[in-house]
Amino acid sequence: MPSEPIPTADSAEPSPAAGSIFRIGLGWDRHRLEPGADRPLILGGVRLEHDRGPVGVSDGDALLHAITDALLGAAGLPDIGELFPTTDPANEGRDSTDFLVEADQRMRDLGFEAQNIDAVVILERPRIGPHKRQMRAVIAETLGLPIDAVNVKGKTGEGVDAVGEGRAVEARAAALIHRRALRSGSEAG
Ligand code: MG
Repeated sequence: MPSEPIPTADSAEPSPAAGSIFRIGLGWDRHRLEPGADRPLILGGVRLEHDRGPVGVSDGDALLHAITDALLGAAGLPDIGELFPTTDPANEGRDSTDFLVEADQRMRDLGFEAQNIDAVVILERPRIGPHKRQMRAVIAETLGLPIDAVNVKGKTGEGVDAVGEGRAVEARAAALIHRRALRSGSEAG
């Protein structure tokens, strides 16, 4: 069966005859962590106490960046770097929940709604275990999802490579989004 065109930011409105569709998206991000960085370590909108902070233009929240890219990717939209360029002074020190809100709105503008998010944070220290519930709550509230539709898992780098040596934090996310069937007639569906 031929697949219908995926609506993108450039292709205007979804077809009125379009059926219910699901899309998945993948996001990945990494930020260097440096001692004395002028930004606190924030992941999933939650501030963690740590002697290193992320290097980045925004607040450096790798988890929200990965989730934002997963949603944008699923909807066929431009990625986070295209929408929020590091060269734009407006993004300096910016709260990354702004990016997630914008991605969610752009996705909704195309008729999509997020169904669930699954994410992994790879960080040597501190452990994110005590903060996972709060991260999930922040993400779920931002996206208007129940907390059980947002999962965050923590892993370490097993002491090797930049993440394992504490010099970076990494995050990966998968997102499932859904667009309901759009009815053109009273009994369509
Ligand atoms: Mg980033």
